[in-house]
Formats: sequence, C-alpha cells, structure tokens
Amino acid sequence: MRILVIGRGGREHAIIWALKKSARVAKVYCAPGNAGIAQLAECVPIKESEFDKIAQYALDYAIDLVVVGPEDPLADGIVDYLEERNIPVFGPRKSAAIIEGSKVFTKQLLKKYGIPTATYESFDDYEAALAYVRKQGAPIVIKADGLAAGKGVVVAQTIGEAERALEDIMVKHVFGEGSSVVVEEFLQGQEMSILSFVDGSVVRPMLPSQDHKQIFDDDKGPNTGGMGTYCPLPHIPQSVIDEAIETIIRPTAEAMVKEGRPFRGVLFAGLMITESGPKTIEFNARFGDPETQVVLSLLETDLIDIFLATINGRLQDMDIRWSGDSAVCVVLASGGYPGSYPKGVPISGLDEVQQSVVFHAGTAEKDGGIVTDGGRVLGVTAKGANIEEARAKAYADVERIRFDGAQYRKDIALKALR
Ligand code: AMP
Repeated sequence: MRILVIGRGGREHAIIWALKKSARVAKVYCAPGNAGIAQLAECVPIKESEFDKIAQYALDYAIDLVVVGPEDPLADGIVDYLEERNIPVFGPRKSAAIIEGSKVFTKQLLKKYGIPTATYESFDDYEAALAYVRKQGAPIVIKADGLAAGKGVVVAQTIGEAERALEDIMVKHVFGEGSSVVVEEFLQGQEMSILSFVDGSVVRPMLPSQDHKQIFDDDKGPNTGGMGTYCPLPHIPQSVIDEAIETIIRPTAEAMVKEGRPFRGVLFAGLMITESGPKTIEFNARFGDPETQVVLSLLETDLIDIFLATINGRLQDMDIRWSGDSAVCVVLASGGYPGSYPKGVPISGLDEVQQSVVFHAGTAEKDGGIVTDGGRVLGVTAKGANIEEARAKAYADVERIRFDGAQYRKDIALKALR
C-alpha cells in the first residue's frame, strides 16, 4: 500500500514510524513532513491547507490511503473533500470534527446527553462574561472558542488573571477573529487522556496516557502544546479508566451518531479524574501530540489494519493488542516557547541517542544538518518494563541532544511514581 500522511509534527512522525512496521505498507509520503519524517517517508512540499494539491497528488501517485494528522484541515473539511473525489481517507468529516473545532458545540452536546463535564456558560458579550466571572470568583477557567493549538485556555487562579484572559480573547482577539468564550468551573484532580479508534458507535479505546501541559516543572507557567507524556497510567485504577470509557467516551460517540454527525477516526478525550468521578475537559478529533508518541510505541497490532478496519466498518471485530511495557516521551522545546522563539538553531547529538526513538516535532534540514523549526522541537521516547525504566532511558538520551536555548521538563511521568 502507498500511504500519504498529512502533517509535520511529532504525532505524524510517530504515525509514520508505526505504519512503517507493517509489511503491507510499501511506501509512505508525507505532506509536508519535517527533517525526521524525511528519514522514513518521502516528504512532499504541500501544505496541510492545500486540499486541491493533496487530492491531485493522491491521484497522481495512486495513494491507497490518506491519513490526516492535525486538527485544522479536519475542521476545514479535508475528509469530505477527499471522499468526494473517491480518495480513501482516515479521519472524521467536518460535521464530526466540530467536536474539537467548537468548544461551545461540545459543551452543549455534553449537557444535552448528560455526559459529565465542568459546568459552564458561553458568552459572545464581553461585559456579560466579565460580570459572570466576577460573580463566580477564582479559580476559574476561560477558553477561547475555536482552535488555538492548545494555548487558548487560561486556568485563572485570580479574578485579575481571568479578567485579563477575557480582554485578550474578546477585546484584543489574540487567538484570532472569534470572540466567543466558554467560562468553566475549575476541576481539581489528575488529568488523563484516552484516545480511541471510533467508527460511529463502535469505540475501541487505546491505552490511557498523561500529558504535561505547562512549560515548567510542577505544572508551573503558561500552557503549551504538551511537554511530555507517559503511558499507561499505573497509579490510576482500571475501574476509573473503565468508568471514563463507559460514562463519557461511549456515550459521546453515540451522541454524535444521534446528532447525525457520526465520528470516524481517532477521538481523543481529555479527562479530569475528580472526587466525583471522571469529567470531560475536552474532545479532540485526532491523535494527540505528544500522546501518540507513547501510545503508538506500545501498539502491537498493525496500525494500517486498524485504520482500514475503521473506515471499512470492521472495527468491532478487530483484535487490537498492546505491549505490557511502559513508554515515556520528553519534549525538547526552543528557548522562549510558548512565547516567541528563534528558528534555524543547529541540533547536535541526535546520532548519539542509544535507547530512545526521537520523534521530530519542529525540525528542518539545513546545509546537511538538522536545525530547529518550531516551538516544540523533538520528542525523545523510550520504552521500558515500567515507567521508571522508560523514564530513565528517555532522560539519558535527552542529555545527549544539544541545541542553544533547549528547554525540557525534568518531571515527566513523576506523578506515576510519587
Ligand atoms: P483544553 O485545551 O481544553 O484541554 O485545556 C488545556 C488544559 O487546561 C487542560 O489540559 C487542563 O490542564 C486545563 N483545563 C482545562 N479545563 C479545565 C477545567 N475546567 N478545570 C481545570 N483545568 C482545566
């Protein structure tokens, strides 16, 4: 089979790494890819937003399956566009991708079907939002509606912080044109991500994982796209994981079917395990980044078989197997991220890595070397018999990689060990 993967991050690198293990995959192409992906796949200089060029390429190169990584093309209808041209594609249609694209849609869906989530109000009017926030008090959570690369959420510890967030979103439009916000109850507890392969009401959960959203150790500082992950979660009882699947993920997939928006692809549930049980923080319409790096490291079944079963209505019968090992991914980010950061900084030590797979998130090739090309640069991912072993291997390799300004968290996966 000839596969075309859309995207350029660590998630796409991990998807391609998993696909390349399949004897059924003859060749992988990636649009546009990055310097790490180029070692496994043929990178094509087409942007994720150029649907016409993607479709033409798929037809010209007799692509058997297109796999869409990131959220933006999904929200913009790339799956509908390719399906209309009879190009097989893995991912949700626009009508289902809205579960990530609009927080207002998702909060209303959860409320309508009684699926556990934080209580909330949504606002278009700045003064009304301000009055509500002042009445509720802090801590409180402010979310810009629409896609914001994981950065449109402010967990405000004080009313002043909440007021600034409302002003940024609704007056200064720092997350783009839209000015709707969702104001949510602050949920306390441990976070957990569960990604599932979904075809309509058929839900096949993957192993649970945990991301580290804030830039600094001990969950300090502003939110990022994700600074590291581990999988599975030995400190979370299986009963809690099952409860999340049965009370949140399955009912949500069924709700989407009832709404005439059947979801097909990877449904990502971001969950908070509160004292009163798991609650929904968010849904995403695709593989998570950097959750994918650890989850797919532990997948033993051929990924292409799962993709094909999902799009051909055979997911229910699929035998999906997971390794009993653990995996840890530590993200190396550019100096300054999640604020502004330089690009083109030379990276050394990649060839000294011993026990990890280094998934490239934001890299490019320059003069025969590899340079930084994004905020999150690399995801150093190791497997071990348990979290402790995987963590030790990943950090040993992190120490071997160097670039000016590199920053990474030292406490990835520590929650599982404390
Ligand atoms: P989201 O983009 O909705 O996943 O939010 C990003 C991060 O903000 C989450 O991973 C949580 O750490 C935090 N967060 C979002 N909503 C809440 C909430 N209601 N209570 C506490 N933390 C939250």
